Amino acid sequence: MCGIVGYIGPKPVVPVILEGLRRLEYRGYDSAGIALAGSASGLTVHRASGKLRNLEALVADKPMAGNYGIGHTRWATHGRPTEENAHPHRDCTGSLVVVHNGIVENYLALKKELVAVGHIFVTETDTEIIAHLIEQEFLDAKSVEQLSLEEAVRRSVRKLKGAFAIGVLSADDPSKLVAARSGPPAVIGFGKDEYFLASDIPGILHHTRDIVYLQDGDIAVLTTSGVVFTDFDGNTISRLPQHIQWDPIQAEKEGYRHFMLKEIHEQPRAIRDTMLGRVSLTTGKVELPDLKLTVDELRRAQRVAIASCGTSWHAGLAAKFMIERLARLPVEVDYASEFRYRDPILGATDMGLLISQSGETADTIAAQLEMISKSTPTLAICNVVGAAITRKAFGTITTNAGPEIGVASTKAFTAQLTALFILALYLAQCRDTITQEESLKLVTELDKLPAKAREVLRSTAPVCQELAKIFSNARDFLFLGRGIHYPIALEGALKLKEISYIHAEGYPAGEMKHGPNALIDENLPVVCIATRDENNPDSVLKYEKTLSNLQEVTARNGRVIAIACEGDTEISRLVEHTIYIPSAPELLLPILEVIPLQLLAYSIAVERGCDVDQPRNLAKSVTVE
Ligand code: GLU
Repeated sequence: MCGIVGYIGPKPVVPVILEGLRRLEYRGYDSAGIALAGSASGLTVHRASGKLRNLEALVADKPMAGNYGIGHTRWATHGRPTEENAHPHRDCTGSLVVVHNGIVENYLALKKELVAVGHIFVTETDTEIIAHLIEQEFLDAKSVEQLSLEEAVRRSVRKLKGAFAIGVLSADDPSKLVAARSGPPAVIGFGKDEYFLASDIPGILHHTRDIVYLQDGDIAVLTTSGVVFTDFDGNTISRLPQHIQWDPIQAEKEGYRHFMLKEIHEQPRAIRDTMLGRVSLTTGKVELPDLKLTVDELRRAQRVAIASCGTSWHAGLAAKFMIERLARLPVEVDYASEFRYRDPILGATDMGLLISQSGETADTIAAQLEMISKSTPTLAICNVVGAAITRKAFGTITTNAGPEIGVASTKAFTAQLTALFILALYLAQCRDTITQEESLKLVTELDKLPAKAREVLRSTAPVCQELAKIFSNARDFLFLGRGIHYPIALEGALKLKEISYIHAEGYPAGEMKHGPNALIDENLPVVCIATRDENNPDSVLKYEKTLSNLQEVTARNGRVIAIACEGDTEISRLVEHTIYIPSAPELLLPILEVIPLQLLAYSIAVERGCDVDQPRNLAKSVTVE
């Protein structure tokens, strides 16, 4: 999920790699490392936690020799951001190293097998498994055949489940870099007698503009004489370089106009990565080893107290529906900044849940300390491994959304909803409030979400652009929703406020008649979430009531934009504009319906010429109370 740069060619290797990693720094990372090979002293590895300058200082202090190598900046998903856990990772012999972006879903099972045949692991990462797997392929083959590095890599990656872009080098098969991709991006750069590997184009753009994007299932072998591409079975494939025209700033955004738009489009991957290794598609069972509370403790829990801020607070409100519905456990949700002031009634049988993208939000930390002072064990939902709230928490679920740069949160939110849904399902399983059959059904539907999210992006982006042209001059907006859709209405309003500076309010659809209907006239756009899960009578009932509320709006000439499920022709007869999304079980619909709201806010902000990625008066991580 973070940075990889590899190089083989005539230039001094260390500056090429360090400069490349520096150009990927904007993505954020927690530690860095570099491995060089090809000198008489064999393979050398330097790693450092924290900023790249720590690694640079180390390299200056202990110069490295070699004529090819790989470097990595890490965004931890498995194991703390320490030097030990920084990439590259070695096998037992130290003669081969691996850098990796992504998550190895089945690493625990593989590790068990490898430990049983004598491998010794020295880090907490999932990545280290890959180095040992490759080593084991050499050991297995030793007596019968001479294995090349690429063949050992091929055999190994076929055993991996999850998401990976990797770079591998071995002192025993010199002058060769092997790369493989399944999930996270990886590119190969072609220079004059020199070849590059990178996770992202900005890492190598100052050397070459001739790029091959590795496809899922590709392996590339880089040597001094060229690059050979094969699939995971070893069949040769043809990949022709394309000439990239992007300037460095465009390249950082992968051609998108803003980081926010790029991150909106990364949501299918963020949702998938948050699920990886946590749900079984064959049994429906959820596993959350980092939660650290025992099944007994979770059974005994009498209440969940959620505290969070901004977008994360909306995720908390949605989580109340998920946890109460599935696990039949009462949930309270507070603004973290308000939590302390009501002297909350909490004890050891309650469970605190803190939600924060950065994990450094001062208000959320203050709420956590309040919980801890009342002997309430706390759990964290956080996008940054090792962040402050995770250090204080008993257990953590990381949202594997990858670094988020746009100030207005998008992919971190859908990843939070995914993590919270998985937590709700886990609690339900521990507390026996769900059958295995129901679990399996929900997990199967969860698994379909990344593809559905991709479809929502494809089909709703042009519609939102059109709507932005119509409504970008509005002074106010209302966002309506019922039940679990109400927090999403709040989130839609917040996105619009944050980046377009238009006043917007989220309201429960049923509350309109108790006051806000007075605001409605032909100048007020009303965005209404009117989705439904056809297989769920409660959801359909709620939908019908929302339709009645909408009728009250249209009767007063309010201009309605409805978010509805495909196949709903009734609603389009009633309202001016409809944005369609695929249907899903009620508790999963929020993950899909928020996407057009993000796109609408984005398109309106662009239409109004606002600074989308750095809205005025706002900061990404709010570390003051
Ligand atoms: N899962 C790996 C780790 O935690 C890779 C992290 C990354 O993508 O940077 O080390």
